[in-house]
Amino acid sequence: MKIAEVEAIYLRLPEVDATRADGTQDTLVVRIHTDEGITGVGEVDSVPLVAKSAIEAPPSHAIATGLRSLLIGENPTEIEKLWEKMYRGTIYFGRAGPAIHAMSGVDIALWDIFGKATGRSVSELLGGMFHNKLMAYASDLMPETPREAGKLAETYASRGYKAMKFGWGPIGRDPKLDEALVKAIRSAVGDDVDVMIDAGLAWDLKGALRMAYVYEEYGVFWLEEPLHSNDIQGYRALADRTSIYIAGGEQESGRSAFQRLLDEGHLDIIQPDLGRCGGLTEGKKIAYMAYDRHKRVVPHAFKTGILVAASTHFAASIPNGFMIEHTVSTSPLARDLVHTPVEFKDGYVSVPGDRPGLGVEIDETVLEKYRVR
Ligand code: MG
Repeated sequence: MKIAEVEAIYLRLPEVDATRADGTQDTLVVRIHTDEGITGVGEVDSVPLVAKSAIEAPPSHAIATGLRSLLIGENPTEIEKLWEKMYRGTIYFGRAGPAIHAMSGVDIALWDIFGKATGRSVSELLGGMFHNKLMAYASDLMPETPREAGKLAETYASRGYKAMKFGWGPIGRDPKLDEALVKAIRSAVGDDVDVMIDAGLAWDLKGALRMAYVYEEYGVFWLEEPLHSNDIQGYRALADRTSIYIAGGEQESGRSAFQRLLDEGHLDIIQPDLGRCGGLTEGKKIAYMAYDRHKRVVPHAFKTGILVAASTHFAASIPNGFMIEHTVSTSPLARDLVHTPVEFKDGYVSVPGDRPGLGVEIDETVLEKYRVR
């Protein structure tokens, strides 16, 4: 089997509010075709057009080459070999940049092809399922007022979610408002629901420490990205001084970045995004690095049903996976792009282990409707 074509498909809602930290307003889907008629899909979380160029750019020289030209004619099931070929061919603009984001989508599509070609699910190919269902947490942006926050928390609890996260928005503007927001969420859902806060890089170390102590009182399960991604020393000081789990890593790509977060930043939970960190192939290496350090992994995912499926197979196939992120965005890209979404019931997703590949099919009408040519 050989790779015949690599498509980078840019999807975008007619209206995009780029001031919101909402990645479901656009996306880049990667579709890889083979000479045997098998097609695989993947997804990239980046600036879609930049990542699209990283795929489509014609070769410039040995270590500055668009991914498509590196892939055409290759055997799609030789995933490790192709990963290394792509990584080396993009050293000038990749490693931690747009090329590795694009590689991530390609990698997911290659695993989908491998599964379809062998009649096996991606989780089986990744080594087998440690878990056949995973808790899915409702993930939303933090609203402006405690009243809205409480109402949303109530809504997600009534949909069956046992865990929920609110992030970005007003967090970090005013410590009193931050406390009122978490208080409203906690009183709406009681003590049996896990509540997580995604601070969205809101504070410096002292500000984060002050809020971590407040969040401890409300039993917050994890505090995500309270500091700037480069403030590794700050993360270490924070993680060492609070009992709340400190989570992060969605911005990062490649093993060495996650090694730094774990060994120097002392993060408790790492959150590789499979559409950005280097795909399932690199994600698995990152997960085992965390496992060796007795740390857990919850993949970041705020895109379409393609990334939800990839994240589900991934979290199922690592010993330290236990939960996935479930965006509650009403964007048609998040809700309708795939026909056969990963099933969600009573707060958990079932791993589609009986379907080949990722187990999702694209709704071509939705794809064409939002496709930007
Ligand atoms: Mg986040």
